[in-house]
Amino acid sequence: MNEYDAARIVDQLQVNCGYQQTDHPEQADLILFNTCHIREKAEEKLFSELGRLHKLVATARQQAALPPALFAVGGCVAQATGAEIFRRAPFVRLVFGPQTYHRLPHMLARLEREGGQLCDAEIATESKFDELPQSQRVGAIASVTVQEGCNKFCAFCVVPYTRGREWSRPVQDILTEVNHLVQHGAVEIQLLGQNVNAYQGMDSTGLVHDLALLIRRVALLPGVQRLRFVTSHPADMNDDLVEIFADIPQLCAYFHLPIQSGSDRILERMGRGHSRADYLGWIDKLRAVHPDMAIASDFIVGFPGETEADFQETLHLVDAVSYDHAYSFCYSPRPGTQAASMADAIPAPLSAERLARLQERLNAHQLQRNQQRVGRIEQVLVEGVAKKGSGELTGRTPGFRKVNFPGPAEWIGRIVPVRISEGLPNSLRGQWTEPAA
Ligand code: SAH
Ligand code: SF4
Repeated sequence: MNEYDAARIVDQLQVNCGYQQTDHPEQADLILFNTCHIREKAEEKLFSELGRLHKLVATARQQAALPPALFAVGGCVAQATGAEIFRRAPFVRLVFGPQTYHRLPHMLARLEREGGQLCDAEIATESKFDELPQSQRVGAIASVTVQEGCNKFCAFCVVPYTRGREWSRPVQDILTEVNHLVQHGAVEIQLLGQNVNAYQGMDSTGLVHDLALLIRRVALLPGVQRLRFVTSHPADMNDDLVEIFADIPQLCAYFHLPIQSGSDRILERMGRGHSRADYLGWIDKLRAVHPDMAIASDFIVGFPGETEADFQETLHLVDAVSYDHAYSFCYSPRPGTQAASMADAIPAPLSAERLARLQERLNAHQLQRNQQRVGRIEQVLVEGVAKKGSGELTGRTPGFRKVNFPGPAEWIGRIVPVRISEGLPNSLRGQWTEPAA
């Protein structure tokens, strides 16, 4: 979602403010950071990068007799930290949140007029999507935000505080954006939401759509060759969201369903609102509706009070599901969340050791599942060239596996059949089996 937001920020700066992007930071009049607050590391990285870049740019611009660059910080760190950023990095002049970036042209104009510093990190009541220009650069895979924010308040998570309450975009706005994207070259559409399957949006007749119904509507648009959606919450699952995988050929057999922990005791402490058995029930249904379903998840280790026995249950769950892909993290206490004040913190070295064991297990499953693709023909959406000079292309299968294979650049943006010859830890290799249609 941050990538999507960053692209929309760039669209605005280009269309409404006349800026152009540059690869040379010292030439930039405006340097803007779009930030993530989900874990402490991301926050710390902001301040170290700000300092590094400021030093580099300030000296270079002084030597070239250019005016100082305007430093701006947006995103969830800005939302959570607000004007405090000016204290830690006094050269920053603009701070704005993930729900106010549509006001950027006004903020920049005001800074130019009045000088000084400006912080606009209110959670806006108006919809930013109504104000934004259409996407200017469209790749083969294009994202569309359909839902934002969260009401679940899991004990560890800052999202409800930084992105605000759950909100769904109206159906018609989504259809219009998808139409624009496919007309400008998008082949695959990814519907995005913090809890995308909590989607409850209205169409122009006032009919409320859940995610499954929205997907049915999007799939009817001409030019949408592939569809996927991230990220779903186990407590917001319903049977129709499973059945659409049998009904809609464009829907990729890929489901990202985070569980965080395999232990019911920890799930309860996290306030996730579902059990391990509920979760496994959904996995069974998903695999039953589509035998090729790729399953992905997120995990947190070292949540306060996690015992070795709890952790073992997570490892057993990983073996039971055999994930195609997963993200895993050490628990990071976040200011203002319920878990930040919980007793029984797990020492960092123990968390790190558990994370290493979990990742080893996840990697073994991922490699095994990649190797099981060998000999099969995958429909690969070609995204670009693999590496300069390698003569290879890179793309994605419906299960979101990366595939590298030799082929001409003309195939970029097309779906081509590739016979898989090798399954590696993080990708597949193969050969095209017939010329692209
Ligand atoms: N809404 C999704 C996840 C959104 S946050 C869900 O509920 O599953 C993305 C991921 O960041 C989470 O799945 C979790 O694994 C990780 N995460 C969130 N807060 C974290 C924290 N305090 N420490 C470590 N990882 C965290
Ligand atoms: Fe955060 Fe997801 Fe829980 Fe919402 S449901 S609080 S986004 S982890």
